[in-house]
Amino acid sequence: MQARAMVLPNSTEEISAVLALCNTMQQPVVIIGGNTGGVQGQYPSSNELVISLEQLNQIEEIDEANATAIVQAGCVLETVQQAVADKGLLYPLDLGGRGSATVGGNVSSNAGGINVIRHGMMRNVTLGLEVVLADGTVLSSMNQMIKNNTGYDLKQLFIGSEGTLGVVTKVVVKLEEPTTTINTAMLSLSSFENVLKLLRHMRRYMGNVLNAFEYMDNDYYCAVTVEGGNRAPMDASSACYIVTEVRGNNFEFDEELFQETLAEAIELGIIDEVVIAQSERQRQEIWEVRENFEPILHNSPYFLYDVSLPIGVMDQYLKQVKAEIKALWPNSLCASLAHVGDNNLHFFIAPREEGNIDENSSHVKANEIVYAPLTELNGSVSAEHGIGIEKKNYLPMSRTPQELELMKVLKRTLDPNNILAPGRIFDL
Ligand SMILES: Cc1cc2nc3c(=O)[nH]c(=O)nc-3n(C[C@H](O)[C@H](O)[C@H](O)COP(=O)(O)OP(=O)(O)OC[C@H]3O[C@@H](n4cnc5c(N)ncnc54)[C@H](O)[C@@H]3O)c2cc1C
Repeated sequence: MQARAMVLPNSTEEISAVLALCNTMQQPVVIIGGNTGGVQGQYPSSNELVISLEQLNQIEEIDEANATAIVQAGCVLETVQQAVADKGLLYPLDLGGRGSATVGGNVSSNAGGINVIRHGMMRNVTLGLEVVLADGTVLSSMNQMIKNNTGYDLKQLFIGSEGTLGVVTKVVVKLEEPTTTINTAMLSLSSFENVLKLLRHMRRYMGNVLNAFEYMDNDYYCAVTVEGGNRAPMDASSACYIVTEVRGNNFEFDEELFQETLAEAIELGIIDEVVIAQSERQRQEIWEVRENFEPILHNSPYFLYDVSLPIGVMDQYLKQVKAEIKALWPNSLCASLAHVGDNNLHFFIAPREEGNIDENSSHVKANEIVYAPLTELNGSVSAEHGIGIEKKNYLPMSRTPQELELMKVLKRTLDPNNILAPGRIFDL
C-alpha cells in the first residue's frame, strides 16, 4: 500500500485542522483504524492522505450509573471490553478482530460479530458520536440517553458510512450488566433444515440468554481441523455444526436449562451429537474451530464473502453456490460459516487449480456466482463488512436506483469536494 502521506493526529482539533486544509486543497483523504476491515475501504491509493486514528485511543469516561462509556475512536475494541469489565460492566460488541479493530472502525463499518443475536450490531450499542466533517466542522452529537427524540438522529448517517461522510472521533457506547454463567456447546446436525429447527428451539427455550448461534458446514469444519489446524471436538462426518453459547446469571438453573434444552433437541431428532464444554480450555477449543480459520488462508488465492439473506432460503442458496463453484473449479474449496440468527452467511472460496491462476478474473467469476442469486432472494451483497472498494460494482444488486441517488445527494451535501474516501461505496 502506498499513500501520499500519513498523519497521526492526537486530538479532534488536529483532525479538524487537517480536514479543513485538505478540503481547501482538494486533497483526498482516507481514514484508517485497526486495518481489519474486510472490503478494502481503508486501503489508500497513491494520491491519498491517510489519517490514522492510532493516537486517539483514550477511554474518556465510564459512567457506571448511566451504563455508558465515552471512547475515542482509535481505541481498540478489546481494550474497551477489558476496561469496562474492570468496572463490573459489559461492552457487548465482540468479533474475531477484537485485538486490532477500533471503535471508530466498528462504527464506520457498523460491525456485527458473534453476539448480534442478543445485543445487535454497532448501531445498537452507539448512543452518540463526535464527527469531523469534510470541511473541518466538528459535529458533536454526544447523546448519552436511550431516549432523545429531538429531530433527526444525525449519528445514524455516519454509522456504516465507511468514512465517506466524516471522521468519527469519539463514541458514546451503551453498556450492559455482565453475565456470570457461560454454557457453551458444539453440536452436529444432519441437515440445514435441522439447523433452522434448532435455532427456533433454542430461541424458544433459552430466550434472551442465547448469546451465540454459529453455523459451520462440513467443508469448513474439515478445512479448519486438518492436521496442524484446530483440534476437532467431534468427528468430521456431519453435514452441519453449530457452536452455541448461553450467558445468564443463575448458576444452577442456567446450566440445567441448557442441558435439558439440548437433550430435548436430541430426543426430537434435531441434533446428532453434543459436546458441552466442561472447562474454559474446552470452551476455547470449541470457539477456536469457529474463529481460527488460519488453515484456510494457506490456500492461494482465496476469496472471503459476507452476504445476508432470509434464513428460509439460505440452504437452497448455499447448495446452488457450492454446485456452481464445483462445476467451475472441480478441486475447489467452498467452505461456509454463518451467524445464522442474523441472516448472515460467510464463504471462503479457494479455486485450488493447478498452475498459474489469474486471481482477479477468478475473483470476478466467484463474485458472479455468489452475488447473482441474491437480488431475487431478497438478500444483500454485504451483511456486516460493508461495500468499500471490493463490492461497489455489486451495490446496485442490493439497493434501488432511488436509494443510490439519495446516498449520492447526502455525500455531495456533506462532502462537496469529494475528499473523504472517494471511490468507496460508489463513484460519484
Ligand atoms: C479475524 C477477523 C474477524 C472479523 N470478524 C468480524 C465479524 O464477525 N463481524 C464484523 O462485522 N466484522 C468482522 N471483521 C472485520 C473488521 O474487524 C470490522 O469491519 C471492524 O469494524 C473494522 O475496524 P477497524 O478499526 O479495523 O477499521 P479499518 O479496517 O481501519 O477501517 C474500516 C473502514 O472504516 C473506515 N474508518 C475506520 N476508522 C474510522 C473513523 N474513525 N472514522 C471514519 N471512518 C473510519 C475506514 O476508512 C474503512 O472504510 C473481522 C476481521 C478480522 C480480521
